[in-house]
Order: sequence, then C-alpha cells, then structure tokens
Amino acid sequence: MAMNTEIIELNEQNIDIEKLKRAAQIIRDLGTVVLPTETVYGLGANALSSEAVLKIFMAKGRPADNPLIVHVCSADMMSNLLHEPLDMRAKILIDTFWPGPLTLIFKRSELVPLEVCANLDTVAIRMPDHPIALKLIELAKVPIAAPSANVSGKPSPTMAKHVISDMDGRVDMIIEADRSRIGVESTVLDITSEVAVILRPGGITLNQLQEVLGKEGVVIDEMIEGEADKPRSPGMKYTHYAPNATMQIVRGDRNDIIRYIQSKIQSTANASTSVGVLCSDETKSHYRGACVLSIGSVHRLDQGASNLFAVLREFDQMGVDIIFAEAFAEDEMGLALMNRMKKAAGFNIVDV
Ligand code: AMP
Ligand code: MG
Repeated sequence: MAMNTEIIELNEQNIDIEKLKRAAQIIRDLGTVVLPTETVYGLGANALSSEAVLKIFMAKGRPADNPLIVHVCSADMMSNLLHEPLDMRAKILIDTFWPGPLTLIFKRSELVPLEVCANLDTVAIRMPDHPIALKLIELAKVPIAAPSANVSGKPSPTMAKHVISDMDGRVDMIIEADRSRIGVESTVLDITSEVAVILRPGGITLNQLQEVLGKEGVVIDEMIEGEADKPRSPGMKYTHYAPNATMQIVRGDRNDIIRYIQSKIQSTANASTSVGVLCSDETKSHYRGACVLSIGSVHRLDQGASNLFAVLREFDQMGVDIIFAEAFAEDEMGLALMNRMKKAAGFNIVDV
C-alpha cells in the first residue's frame, strides 16, 4: 500500500531548521527520510533500530543480505558501534577524508542491528560532506543508515526528480535539494586487515588513498572486475545501476569503437528498436541514427562519473531498447565510472 510521503525542499546554503527538525523527528520515530548527500541521495532511517532499518529494505526492495552504510556527523558518534578503539591508520584516514565520500569497514560492536550489517561481524561507516545530511544526523541524535535512494537495481538518484520518481509513496519524507555534487557513491575501504582493500571504487580515488597509506598499503579487490567467484562485499554480487535497456560496453581504440558502434546502429535500429549511444563530448558528433548522450569530456571523467546515473535514467525516459557505451580510461575517477558502467551492463563488454 502506498504511503503518504511528505516532500520538503531545502537550500543547503540557507537551511530551514524548523523543516529539518520535522525530518529529524521522523528519524527518531523510526520512520524513513530521503536525504541529499554529496555522493547520491540516500534513503535514511535510525541505524540503531532494526524496526526502522527494515523499512529501508522494504522501500527499496533491497535483498536482506546486502548491508547498509551508517552515516555519522562526528567520529564520537560511532565509538560505541565499534568493537575496538580507532587505531592510528583509521584516525589518519578519518582526519584526511571525512567528511567525504570514503566509507570505512570496521569490526563492529553488539549495538549494530544485524539488519544493518547483514549478519557480518563488521560495519560500514562514513561522514557525508553535505550540510543538510550532517545537520539532520545532528538533530536526530542517532547515526543514520542510508543506502542510495533508488529502487533496488536501478541507477542511483543524483537529482531530486529521480528520488521523487522512485520513492514517492514508499517513504515518510523526501528532502529535495540540489543535484549531488560527486554524483557517484563513496569508496568502500575495508580496514580490518593489514593491507586496506577497496571493495568499491568511488568518490575517493586509489591515488588519494595511496598518498596516505603508501603504495603497498592499499589494494583493489579483484571481485570489482566481476572475476572472483566469492564476493567479499555482499553488494558486489547484485545487478546494479541498470537502465531498462540492455547495455553493451565497447572497448578498444577510439576509431575502432566509433566504427563498431556506428555499424551496430545501422544493423540494429529500426521502427521497433531504438538504439542509444553513451559517449563523450569528443566523439558524439560521429554517430547518426541513434539517441546519443554524452557524459562530458574524456578529460573530465570526474564530471563524467557525476553525470552517468542521470544519463542512464535519460535513456530510460527516451524508451531506448539497447545502449552501446564507449569504454573510458580506468584511472582516477574513471575507475569508479567504469565500475558502475560495467555493472549497469551486467559485464557485457566487447573488445574491438
Ligand atoms: P549502497 O549504500 O546502496 O551504495 O551500498 C552500500 C555498499 O557498501 C554495498 O556495496 C555493501 O555491500 C557495502 N557494505 C556495507 N556494509 C559492509 C560491510 N560490513 N562489509 C563489506 N561491505 C559492506
Ligand atoms: Mg546503491
């Protein structure tokens, strides 16, 4: 049954505290609130309550074995969620990257509801770099568990209109604000082992982490490429970010990619099949006879990552049946961008 969703609009430069207090009260009353963060919009609830957290899984249709990230507004707020006090490495990471798009995996205490950590003995925590999210957590006086506020499997929401279309009628409140600045989820870093492991590339890059932890101090989990058979992070095994269309990533030299995609448009597009091309500003003029959307310049893949989810949703709006996507360089933010694209494509990749 559809719920009655209250929708409020807040300006992050000038937050209406009275409105935000209502949102905080909903969190305290074990309800659900969609909130803006710098990565993507989140679907929040009191992280200390099983009852509240179950509502997140219900609203999203999220599998119960996919754990949630807990959001805090201070390092103090998480001390009783942890099995042991912060060590030097954790303190340095927190000092350097919080608030910001870095989620840290810690050994957890008994206080973390099993639903939040999907029965694991660890918990994922971050401090968002967004004034509305931080103030909401502060007013609610409890940590807020919040996965991306999309229906499970769909592209994550980076604009207010995305959450309205996915979550209106499924949550108690939606906070509308500006477009998410980073536009791609946080980097998930497991620091329960001697060498830190990136379980999901995101808003903080491998290079940034290596500057703090040293070149040998951090590795990327092989499952990120869809190659290992036992996922270390439960979220890795699910279809994610998927547009309605089937999607294929085309990898190779620039001219070969263009030639392959243009010939595919010619052989595939007809009265009943609409073809989309996901490309860059530098290549978009090469395609004819398809719905062509650019994620931006190949020289600004940070902006490309930020635009990806909105572009995938736009293909849905246009009713595209099949998307051919140019592959991008997998360094810096290109790593997170390509990770999301590969998942959106269900690892359907052709080398040309
Ligand atoms: P979402 O909030 O939808 O962006 O997804 C959260 C991500 O964090 C998923 O990929 C989860 O699998 C991952 N995650 C959350 N908690 C843990 C944990 N305790 N150990 C490993 N990965 C986790
Ligand atoms: Mg998600």
